[in-house]
Amino acid sequence: MSIKYLIGLLLSLFFVAESHSQVDTADRVFARVREEGFQHSRVMARVSQLTDGYGGRLTGSREYLAAAQWVAREMEESGLQQVHFEPFCPDCRGWSLKGFNLEMTSPYYTKISAYPLVMTKSTNGVVSGEVIHIKSIADIPDIKKQFTGKLSGKIILKGDAPAPQSLEEPLSKRFTTEELHKMQDKLTPANAPRNLPELLKSWEEEESQEEAFLRFAEDQGALAVLTTRSMQAGIIHPAGTYFNKKDQLQPLPYFTISVEHFGRLLRLLELGKSPQLRLDLDTEIYFEPQNNVNIIGELTGTDPRLKKQQILLGAHFDSWHAGTGATDNGVNGMVLIEALRILHDIGYQPRRTIRMGLWGGEEQAYYGSVAYAVHHFGPLQSAPNAVSRKVSAYLNLDTGAGVIRGVFLQANDNARPVFKELFRPLKGLTDGIISIENDYDTDHETFDHYGIPSFSLLQDPLAYESVTHHTNLDVLEYIPAEDTMKNAVIVASLVYALDQMQEMVPRKSH
Ligand SMILES: [Zn+2]
Repeated sequence: MSIKYLIGLLLSLFFVAESHSQVDTADRVFARVREEGFQHSRVMARVSQLTDGYGGRLTGSREYLAAAQWVAREMEESGLQQVHFEPFCPDCRGWSLKGFNLEMTSPYYTKISAYPLVMTKSTNGVVSGEVIHIKSIADIPDIKKQFTGKLSGKIILKGDAPAPQSLEEPLSKRFTTEELHKMQDKLTPANAPRNLPELLKSWEEEESQEEAFLRFAEDQGALAVLTTRSMQAGIIHPAGTYFNKKDQLQPLPYFTISVEHFGRLLRLLELGKSPQLRLDLDTEIYFEPQNNVNIIGELTGTDPRLKKQQILLGAHFDSWHAGTGATDNGVNGMVLIEALRILHDIGYQPRRTIRMGLWGGEEQAYYGSVAYAVHHFGPLQSAPNAVSRKVSAYLNLDTGAGVIRGVFLQANDNARPVFKELFRPLKGLTDGIISIENDYDTDHETFDHYGIPSFSLLQDPLAYESVTHHTNLDVLEYIPAEDTMKNAVIVASLVYALDQMQEMVPRKSH
């Protein structure tokens, strides 16, 4: 036997043993993750502590900060390191609701299903007035022509009466295998990539017409404005106005009411019955920029060569105010903490640094994630810095409480083979569908802008769009415990497998 042959034989035996032992190690880790995640789960207990215990977490509010302080303690208890706050909005103000009431007193009594929009001022005690209808605010000069001198002491019904959403459709749904495969089979994304600075700017300008209308209504002595949104069966959706910066307008009392009550008030007007309303609203607007914090924590990497690299996870922590921000997005922050707790508690020593961020201000305009990215990766308009190039991937969870069925590649086809591998051992937990689509409207768009491979996980829709998203029914009842536990196990497994890769996740070619 030549020495060359012997060395070759030994080497090949070594590699066989090495690859076998690696497979075994990975399988063992996946099994431990499952055991920890399904048999010792902490996730639903935390969802209740957060959502029931602290309620809605409006950006800038004292309620947000109280919840952030609690969650930082939970992250530390879960074994995360370097847990800290990072400020994200020095000029965001806060708003808290102290009480309200809205009733029709004539032509007969009924309580109106309503919720105030954020940043609105209080009424001057209990006030009453007649209803007047303004069908559209598209043409402000025309409104001024029509309504000057006619709004004093009035309560304005703003907009048309939409029909409620159909009750024929199921409220809650899961993707069928066929739907998922259709998503996977698409060769090009239907959504074009969006330019982040332009997107943020367009959001800033969105409210100017609304602002002009609200200023006019108040100048004219209107008592309040009522609007609605097409929802099913009495659900109230009081999201969509912002005015959250220090010097912006503080709107007059402004409510969303149920589509059914909006329709009835309009029909009463048409019947010539001139409905009378009685209302009061008690709110507090304050400027406490210290409430605006991202909550950051990590499992610090232990491999001297790789620990500077990061796997970054994110979910927004802020919510709208009428529910408890349960499906949007309290549950997913708790899933990320649980995923890292699982890895910590099974004794996993990550090679790379696994960092998570709970962002504030997502509902306004990605304030938290953008501030984080600017601080760590450089200004929005310049080339991303060296630190950003050490981030292997960013995973975002923010599409409700449904189980993860796959991933949106955000047009990064280079990452497809990676996810194929990552999902392979997770059969039975997730379909591992890989969609080329650019998913919109949450924080991964921030990190994608920096060239970091950024992915939004694809979740079952359940009743997110139909019932819970931004509504008074965004509460724990619509979070299935099994989906939530599965998501923590899936995320922990994905993170482990990403960390085991020799290379970082490939970036887009262009
Ligand atoms: Zn969200």
